[in-house]
Amino acid sequence: MRAAICRSHGTRLSIEEIDVAPPGPDHVRVDIHVCAICHSDITYIDGGWGGPTPAIYGHEAAGIVESIGKGVSGIEPGDRVIVGLLRSCGDCFHCQRGEENLCSGTFAETSPFTDASGSAVVRGLNTGAFAAQTVVHRSQVVIVPDDVPLAPASLLACGVLTGFGAVATTASVPAGSSVAIIGLGGVGLSAVQGAVHTGAHPIVAIDIVPQKLAFARELGATHVVNATEPHRTKVVREATSGVGPDFVFVTVGVRSAIDQALGMVRRGGTVVFVGMPPTGLSTEIEVTNLADGSQTLMGSKMGSGRMAHDVPRLIELYRSGDLVLDGLISHTYPLEEINEAIAEVKAGEVVRNLIQFV
Ligand SMILES: [Zn+2]
Ligand SMILES: [Zn+2]
Repeated sequence: MRAAICRSHGTRLSIEEIDVAPPGPDHVRVDIHVCAICHSDITYIDGGWGGPTPAIYGHEAAGIVESIGKGVSGIEPGDRVIVGLLRSCGDCFHCQRGEENLCSGTFAETSPFTDASGSAVVRGLNTGAFAAQTVVHRSQVVIVPDDVPLAPASLLACGVLTGFGAVATTASVPAGSSVAIIGLGGVGLSAVQGAVHTGAHPIVAIDIVPQKLAFARELGATHVVNATEPHRTKVVREATSGVGPDFVFVTVGVRSAIDQALGMVRRGGTVVFVGMPPTGLSTEIEVTNLADGSQTLMGSKMGSGRMAHDVPRLIELYRSGDLVLDGLISHTYPLEEINEAIAEVKAGEVVRNLIQFV
């Protein structure tokens, strides 16, 4: 099997042959057909979150189940599935409260991967989908109906689930609320679609790339603002009854965007942190403003996503034409060109680049 291995953080991925062990109890082995590149993969590759190497990242994927371990029911070899990093035990404190995205259960952590010399390779983000085959916990796969192509379906495993869910689930934005979304990558553009779905108005989309602003407008943003525009906060305020948005979603993990959001939200409004910054990033908050303004700060992990519950609903929206997925795919590359595909994502001009295995 071929895979893209991160031998050390901050270096190019190396394309190598690997062996993939059979699935243990409650696990499934999946032939990966397509895997998107998410910013979390890049943060790991660049060392922003540390972690051991060598490692295989990739966690926004789709493929076909090759074999199943003991105790797996409801999934069979041959099933078409999306493969994501969210896994849930079903029994822990959080799972029992419907917070599967925060599952604190314990799982078999042995990596299925070994390289050509027989040394173990870490399964990054519990998924390891920059490989032609991987083994994941059964809760990490959701069956995709035959009429839905695997390439767009793969985006549901992370970016779309996260962006759409931050608006629709974490913040449960009421219809008629004003919303601003900072950052228009795969997560941000999915947040725009979540805002349209919940009936938010106006929907202000903010980024520095003109093509992404234009795309946000196509997806239903009522206003677009270039973040490099010096009067951006004033423009956003004017678009939102002169007071600022009810909700601001920060989909990128950089301090300038976080600070922009805190300066933009209205009194009584809510800032939702969606994008994951590198470890250690912090910012200053004027607590007086927060208390006096009755403002709320909220975190959203993976859009409060529950794979088995949310992915089928998102597939239905896609089927009915109410959720754009194909348009989020910028380019498709073979595994051998994954470093070029990653460089393009880092440059900021593309939304989602996909690695195609089959
Ligand atoms: Zn991701
Ligand atoms: Zn759990």
